[in-house]
Amino acid sequence: MKRIAVLTSGGDAPGMNAAIRAVVRYSIYNGLQVFGVKRGYKGLIEGDLKEMTIPSVGDIIHRGGTILRSARCLEFQEEIGREKALNILNIFKIDGLVAIGGDGTFRGAMALSEMGFPVIGVPGTIDNDLSYTDYTIGFDTSVNTVLDAVTKLRDTTSSHERVSVVQVMGRNCGDIALYAGLGGGAEAVIVPEVEFDMDKLSENVSSSMNRGKNQSIILVAEGVGSAEEICKKLQEKTGLEARTTILGHIQRGGNPTSNDRVLASKLGQKAVQCLIEGKSSRVVGIRSNEIIDMDIHEALKMERKFDMNMYNLINILAR
Ligand code: ATP
Repeated sequence: MKRIAVLTSGGDAPGMNAAIRAVVRYSIYNGLQVFGVKRGYKGLIEGDLKEMTIPSVGDIIHRGGTILRSARCLEFQEEIGREKALNILNIFKIDGLVAIGGDGTFRGAMALSEMGFPVIGVPGTIDNDLSYTDYTIGFDTSVNTVLDAVTKLRDTTSSHERVSVVQVMGRNCGDIALYAGLGGGAEAVIVPEVEFDMDKLSENVSSSMNRGKNQSIILVAEGVGSAEEICKKLQEKTGLEARTTILGHIQRGGNPTSNDRVLASKLGQKAVQCLIEGKSSRVVGIRSNEIIDMDIHEALKMERKFDMNMYNLINILAR
């Protein structure tokens, strides 16, 4: 292993820069040359690679987004696109690739590794929807962004004795709602993993307000449906004033938290270590506070476990 390349792909996540920095500097520390690929698999197909140096990743550990940029690339999903990418990797004499991204990025990495090229996946996505790892890079920052918004919303919500329905990111995974819900003292969270009952929710909100609570915050993961509609129904059923807030892409931005920076640095190191050890087709992650690597096929097959204890605790503590 002499030359490696690194790319970020799919949705950007705070901490991706810290991961790039770790990959670049740990590679150079180990005597490897390292190339940055612009715009994920798109840049790989187009040959948009540039050698990275120690200063090229200076002053980025604290920045959100990704200096390598990210893109979605349909062409890479076809074998012909991946052949082009493989050709570029050969032209640049790259021996291994670190792909930082989510589920889709890993499927791309798996397909490339099945063509005989060593690839290691690093989980970078705010959704925390990869089952094999307890946390993904960007998730903690995103939860903190939501918490900050919820804290601000509490001021206005309590002043007007209202209900706030806040839509957060998470298509198939309700973890952002779950963690921000527990940390933010939400009345309830509505997530794709648990069927929700509008009547029960309305009853709970009404009884909480009747016992003297001056505000209720409800977090809705976007995959469940329209927060606007839930808000309207809640207003009709409870007779309380309710407002919707859709947080949107703000959840993707901002300076990464210490947790994300530390995780990204450790996972970046682990990915390079895997390549140096001659491993391929692996993903790195964290489980029970330990940095691990595992087979990418197995990782993608694993079923997500939703933390029902946390979900129940939110409801218990809101009463
Ligand atoms: P996020 O979870 O933040 O959305 P992601 O990595 O899942 O991130 P995707 O857009 O799903 O984001 O995937 C990123 C890129 O990975 C795609 O644009 C495509 O180039 C590649 N990709 C996705 N699925 C496959 C697949 N089945 N085979 C090959 N490449 C794929």
